Amino acid sequence: MNNTLQIEIDPLLCAEQGRIFEGQINTKEMPRVADELGESSSDIKVILEFSRRNKIIVVMGRISGNLMLQCAACLEAIDFPVDINLNLAIVKDDSLTAILPEGLDPKVVEDGRLMLSDVVEDELVLALPDIARHDKCPIELRKVSASTDFVEEVNVKVNPFKVLEGFKKD
Ligand SMILES: [Zn+2]
Repeated sequence: MNNTLQIEIDPLLCAEQGRIFEGQINTKEMPRVADELGESSSDIKVILEFSRRNKIIVVMGRISGNLMLQCAACLEAIDFPVDINLNLAIVKDDSLTAILPEGLDPKVVEDGRLMLSDVVEDELVLALPDIARHDKCPIELRKVSASTDFVEEVNVKVNPFKVLEGFKKD
């Protein structure tokens, strides 16, 4: 068992040995997602299990943790829990992805070396929304109450006419 995922491994060797890697990774260690995530994102828990299925190198695993995104509309934090089950097949190039058994996603490893954190980063890039937004922003609620105030002001301005109408009837 290995606690760091910032290591480069040989997928074929790990598959033959049935290696299991379990550890945690901080989102700051993953440059492709670090910018999109807030400081308070927790470490990501990762388990990756290598095996061989006939001639195919398979990586099964789970990636879970609580991420913090920033809402594009109100700039407040959004809780973004992730719990990803992955089933990957290590392939040398894209041309082999068509012949993979169902349920396996391709991960291209051209030079026989695989950075474990790269697998995690791939999955997080896919899981993150293009644009993070609350279903209902807390700040939009404040906008609604502000427009209600405006309507009330207009009503006040209308009132003097009603007073005049009253004079005419007299
Ligand atoms: Zn928002």
